[in-house]
Amino acid sequence: MLGAYEAITLIRQPVTLLSGRSVRLADGRTVTGGKIIVATGASPWAPPIPGLAQAGYLDSAGAMALERLPASLIVIGASAVGLELAQMFARLGVRVTVLEALPRIVPAEDPAIGDALAGYLAAEGVHIHAGVTIERVERSDCYAVLFRSGARSGQATAEQLLVATGRRANTLGIGLDTVGVRLGQKVRSWSTSISRPGTLMCMARGT
Ligand SMILES: Cc1cc2nc3c(=O)[nH]c(=O)nc-3n(C[C@H](O)[C@H](O)[C@H](O)COP(=O)(O)OP(=O)(O)OC[C@H]3O[C@@H](n4cnc5c(N)ncnc54)[C@H](O)[C@@H]3O)c2cc1C
Repeated sequence: MLGAYEAITLIRQPVTLLSGRSVRLADGRTVTGGKIIVATGASPWAPPIPGLAQAGYLDSAGAMALERLPASLIVIGASAVGLELAQMFARLGVRVTVLEALPRIVPAEDPAIGDALAGYLAAEGVHIHAGVTIERVERSDCYAVLFRSGARSGQATAEQLLVATGRRANTLGIGLDTVGVRLGQKVRSWSTSISRPGTLMCMARGT
């Protein structure tokens, strides 16, 4: 569709920033524009929980690509992505346990929203543990996630494990530092000449 616009030249190539107004294409050409919008998107990120990388786990894309429903699922992370998938799997008949580090689910929202949502999900059979510190992930026939909740130790076991603990900007290697853009913890930019990092899309005339 973009190709139908006379004013847009669509180039399908990885690019690197040269300055706030020009990029180098993978084929060596340079493209210059009045402004550059970085819109490279984000990828799932997992925290360094002991045993997690060795055990392996699903991210949101992997969970949606499963070829059969698991009998049970642990979801680490109770924000939008984790909860929508938790609810979806629970409604499909999967036994779902949600583990959240902060004291409430959807921690970025008003506490009343988190409390209400926790009630609705519990009524649908989702087991929610908020305010937990995950200590270790183990995997044999199934996954075991060992956690602490205050002074109490707990363990969740399930056939599958989904990690939905946030996403990070896909900006590695595109040269943001070259042009003086720093990423914050949330995806933000402090540059005046580059709008929001998120992938690089080139829209330029006459390249
Ligand atoms: C499970 C899930 C559910 C969601 N549900 C919703 C929802 O209900 N409503 C909602 O509004 N949002 C939802 N989102 C969020 C939404 O998907 C994202 O906000 C949106 O896709 C971001 O769009 P984007 O264009 O910034 O990045 P993307 O869609 O990730 O696109 C980035 C593009 O940049 C390209 N690219 C990457 N690196 C380079 C490079 N170096 N050079 C050139 N090109 C590059 C990629 O190939 C890709 O085409 C959901 C996300 C997830 C994971």
